[in-house]
Amino acid sequence: MTLSRPRVLLPGATLGVVGGGQLGRMFALAARVMGYRVVVLDPDPASPAGQVAEVHLRAPYDDAVALMRMGELCDAVTTEFENVPAASLAMLARRTHVAPAPQIVETAQDRLHEKRLAERYGCATAPYANVEDAGELVHAFSVVGAPALLKTRRLGYDGKGQARVEDLDGLVAAHAALGGVPCVLEGRLPIAREFSVLLARTASGEIAFYPVAENLHRAGILDLSIVPARIPEPAAQAARDMARRIAEGVDYQGVLAVEFFLLDDGRVVFNEMAPRPHNSGHYTLDACVTSQFEQQVRALCGLPLGDTRLLTPVVMVNLLGELWTPQPRWEALLGHAGVKLHLYGKTQARPGRKMGHYNCLAPTLEDALALAQTTRRALGVV
Ligand code: AMP
Repeated sequence: MTLSRPRVLLPGATLGVVGGGQLGRMFALAARVMGYRVVVLDPDPASPAGQVAEVHLRAPYDDAVALMRMGELCDAVTTEFENVPAASLAMLARRTHVAPAPQIVETAQDRLHEKRLAERYGCATAPYANVEDAGELVHAFSVVGAPALLKTRRLGYDGKGQARVEDLDGLVAAHAALGGVPCVLEGRLPIAREFSVLLARTASGEIAFYPVAENLHRAGILDLSIVPARIPEPAAQAARDMARRIAEGVDYQGVLAVEFFLLDDGRVVFNEMAPRPHNSGHYTLDACVTSQFEQQVRALCGLPLGDTRLLTPVVMVNLLGELWTPQPRWEALLGHAGVKLHLYGKTQARPGRKMGHYNCLAPTLEDALALAQTTRRALGVV
């Protein structure tokens, strides 16, 4: 049985988070600021969230003993990444309140299921076809055509698990290169802008939207988020409407991020969703009245949602591992007014690994963009 309508959890209660990365860390920090105790489940002894939690259960996500312990310790549990085994969340849900619901987390683990869910709630998607195995490649290509993208259904992130496809031979080769796993073939769209809608919803149905973020990627990894997004208001509204229909349709509880494409012809297309706070929402830490992590705590605890108002234009800049040689020249960054630095406590830097981010706050968006550019140059980003 899933306990879906908890009582209000007041400060002093214990909140659990499955997954100990940076999102779990920022959730834990927000929870502790508000007077909650935090338990993290993550196998990595150096996990970013484990460092700041009262209790760090160092065990795999499917460790029955650790899950039982977590269920005993916690008044409510959430997740910080979607690839937690669904069976683990179901096991936790038998012992404590789990939100978002395990079922929606499971749906978000699979691009095919996620697209079908989005369509059910009236979202436009790119043309796509399922590729369960190599036997379905010809049919999928006949449906979608080229140019296309082949994406693994599961475990893709930051542009990993994807290949560009120009013709049928290329599709066959790409599928083999991705290990022959189940994939979706997706038509490649003429994208004018990428943006994300971030919302929070409580069990009682209260919903709050954050200002839409415009997202720029580099090599498949989020590079900059720009807020307010430079997109027409009707496009933002269309995206909010789609995200609302999904959240209300599945009776969502928690913070939900939905990524969209604005096409050259003005259409708005659903790309993917994350049942948790999102990298493109890190700007809220310094530029909004309530951060997405405080909002995650409020939604989980059944408290009123916080004010999502934008206090200032902002550009969020991701800091990736390639800058660690051995560490960026922070004084070159911190000397600038309006810069707020967030580091995740990761000791091992690798190219492409998200080590931290900083927010550039300025009176106008032009100034915030200029500040992002100047500071990146100072840090040596090419
Ligand atoms: P995803 O992992 O699905 O977010 O894809 C990573 C990036 O690939 C996106 O941020 C887009 O820049 C690009 N992309 C994904 N899907 C499409 C598509 N159907 N058409 C064109 N570009 C895409």
